[in-house]
This record gives sequence, structure tokens and C-alpha cells, in this order.
Amino acid sequence: MAIIVNQEKCIGCSACVPVCPFGAIDMKNGKAVINENCTMCGACLPVCPVEAIYREEIERVVTMDKTEFKGVWVFIEQAGGEVKGVGHELLGEGRKLADELGEELAGVLIGNGVEEMASEVFASGADKVYLVEGPEYDHYNTEAYTVAFVDLIQKFKPAAILVGATNDGRDLGPRVAARVRTGLCADCTDLSIDPETRLVLWTRPAFGGNIMADILCPEHRPQMGTVRPKVFKKPAQDMNRTGELVKVASKVKIEDLKVKLIEILAVCTSNCKLEEADIIVSGGRGLNKPENFAAVEALAEVLGAAVGASRAAVDAGWKPALHQVGQTGKTVGPKIYIACGISGAIQHLAGMSSSDTIIAINKDPDAPIFKVADYGIVGDVLEVLPLLTAEFSKYKAACK
Ligand code: FAD
Ligand code: SF4
Ligand code: SF4
Repeated sequence: MAIIVNQEKCIGCSACVPVCPFGAIDMKNGKAVINENCTMCGACLPVCPVEAIYREEIERVVTMDKTEFKGVWVFIEQAGGEVKGVGHELLGEGRKLADELGEELAGVLIGNGVEEMASEVFASGADKVYLVEGPEYDHYNTEAYTVAFVDLIQKFKPAAILVGATNDGRDLGPRVAARVRTGLCADCTDLSIDPETRLVLWTRPAFGGNIMADILCPEHRPQMGTVRPKVFKKPAQDMNRTGELVKVASKVKIEDLKVKLIEILAVCTSNCKLEEADIIVSGGRGLNKPENFAAVEALAEVLGAAVGASRAAVDAGWKPALHQVGQTGKTVGPKIYIACGISGAIQHLAGMSSSDTIIAINKDPDAPIFKVADYGIVGDVLEVLPLLTAEFSKYKAACK
């Protein structure tokens, strides 16, 4: 599809230029010309007084037999001998999609000595596990994992694949999608099956979070998408559940890999593992200066919590981006989220509103964060935080 200006019809009125949100219309020699920034949003079409702008359908030649592709797959990310939480979350959601299609749910487990994790994958709802093992998969490696995943897709032809929007998943998903010539919808917040077409409806925020877009992949298979950790809840596990384990030989030789792992440098201490945390204490611009983050960290330390930050705090250089919660940061879903001096902008809420209990400390009683908070403390965060830290410290000491 493309957006075209019929140069003969265009009267050069320029009415379309300011309407385009992407600066994709230039006036050249008195006529409108669409440039490479065009996203085909269609906003310019109705404003043209002479209907010079139109959408051109480009006929696609797709030779694949889509009926061959069946079943829903979930990429099972693992590290340190454990299946990462997002794998379970996606299995829970994948189960619903597979049931609605009346098809199978499978987990894709790639690693070194990971076979025993298959039982956990079955317990979270998979009917089948595709297992590829070898020393070449000891740590995540883009090249090796891509080759293994693409090989599985070509052999077993799944209809849809869900991948966690983690550092590794965001690296692997698009590369695999490009290799098998399909699309990928990143950072989905909801998944369902379109009853008419039986395609996956990949729902995600668009235009800065102002609208939710439902995206389909009608022409290519598999349909692929990534979902951030904690967007979906983990399903209840049934450890008595089993399924079929399909072992597939590795096509990768360790000596052929161009990238070798030399050393792992820990840049993230436990307090920035936000996706895994049960409690998060987050600080925002209301802390006023970077030194005051120490008050947030002190409370986090006592509670055994991770430390989060609003984008304003990250942009100000008070905390590294690894700590950012929100639409362009991490999506978290802890049992307790304590927002300290954070206003509660929609982009921040997008990353934390699914927390079980939200506690907000803000000096402005009308701050939007109080609309989502279960408990609110109206006061100066720099006075309230030391009081809470002292009380929790006393309580912890008494419990020992
Ligand atoms: P502010 O909005 O400035 O709020 C500070 C709050 O602190 C106020 O409510 C104030 O009443 C309170 N306060 C001040 N002093 C005190 C005190 N002494 N004691 C108690 N309270 C006090 N933001 C994110 O957080 N995460 C994102 O991922 C993100 N992504 C974005 C993506 C896009 C495309 C855009 C446009 C914006 C994004 N933002 C994101 C920015 C977001 O819109 C807000 O600007 C940001 O969240 C504000 O951060 P804040 O609440 O710390 O600061
Ligand atoms: Fe701009 Fe959208 Fe028109 Fe493309 S379709 S030129 S992005 S307004
Ligand atoms: Fe040409 Fe229509 Fe744009 Fe006017 S609104 S410049 S006529 S394309």
C-alpha cells in the first residue's frame, strides 16, 4: 500500500502539509509530494479539496500456503537454570489463543542442558515442547538462537509465535521474523483472536499511547509479536500436566559462531531487576535533586525492594535508564509499588498500573497518581520517606 498525490489533480493549496503528523508532505514546484516519512496513517486524505491524495493498493504476491501453518508457539527464555517469568506469562496467554483456534500450544526451549525445564513449560499449559540443545546455546547468542529458531519454524510451521519483549527477545524476535519474511508486532499489551479471520489481533499503544491499535498479519506466516514481562499474569501451574517433547538436532557448530562470549559484566544489581521484583520503590522529579534518591534507596533496602524511576528522573540523569518504569521504560507488576514524588503521567501509569497495591507519596493532593493509588500519603516525600524507613526498620528488627 502507498499514499500517492495525483500530480495532475493537485492545485498546490498546501492544505495537506500541516495535517501530516510526520512531516511527510513537501511542496515541490507548487505540488504536494509524499516523502519517505509517510506512515500511511491516512490523515491527509480527507483534507484535500480536490481529492488528489489517494491510497494505492499494491498487489502482493504471496506464494506461501498459509493453511500449512498451525499452532501457537511461545519462546521460552531461560537463564541461570530457570525459565524466566515472561515465558510462563506468555504460555498462559498462548493457551487461550490456542484453545480459541482449537490448535496446539508449544514452547520453544533452546539452551544447554535445559531439558528438565520442559516439565515447567508443560505445567504452564504447553501441549508440546520443541527442544534444541548444545554448548553453542549456553548463553544467549543472536546468531545461534536465530538459526535454531528459524530451522524449527521451517520444519514445523507454527501459525503464531509469542516472544518476551526482554533484551534477548527484542533481539531475537525481529531477526527471526526477517529471516522467515514475516512481520512482528512489538510490545503488545493485549492478544486475542479475530473471530472473522481467525488471525491473531495484536493490540498495542500507538501515537504516543493515545490510541490502542489492533494489528493483523494477514498475508504472512507465522504471525509474530513481542510482549513485555508482567503485562500478563502467570497462569497457575499444574505440575502433573505433561506433553510431547520433540528433540531437534542443532544445526549450529560452536566453531562457526562469529560472536564469542568473553566475559559477563554485571551492570544491574538486584535493585534494578524491576521485572522480577515483588516490591518496587520508585522516585520522580518530586525528589528535587539526585542526592535525594538516597531516601528512596534506603526504603528499598529495608523492604528488599527494587528501585524504579520516572522518565523525568532518568532524563535528569538521577538514575540510569535500566530503572525507568513506564511506556518507554519497563512494565512492572509487583505486589507493592511505592511512587515517591511521581505525578502519575499516563506514560508512567502504562508501566505500573497493573501492580497489586499502589502507594503514592505526593505533596499535591490533586496529583493524578492518587487516582490509581490504593493508599495515598499527601506530604513532602523527603519527610515521609525517612519516617517509613525508620518504622519498617523497627518492625523488621522486632520480627527477628
Ligand atoms: P513530574 O510530572 O514533574 O511530577 C513530579 C511530582 O512530584 C508532582 O506530582 C509534584 O506534586 C510532586 N512533588 C514535588 N515535590 C514534592 C515533594 N517535596 N514531596 C512530594 N511530592 C512532590 N514517563 C515515565 O515515567 N516513564 C515512561 O516510560 C515515559 N515514557 C514517555 C513516552 C513518551 C512518548 C512521552 C511523551 C512521555 C513519556 N514519559 C514517561 C514522561 C511523562 O509524560 C512524564 O513527563 C513523567 O512521567 C513525569 O515524571 P515525574 O512524575 O517524575 O515528574
Ligand atoms: Fe502524512 Fe499520514 Fe498523509 Fe502519509 S498518510 S503523508 S503520514 S498524513
Ligand atoms: Fe495538493 Fe490536495 Fe495537498 Fe492541496 S491538499 S497541496 S491539492 S494534495
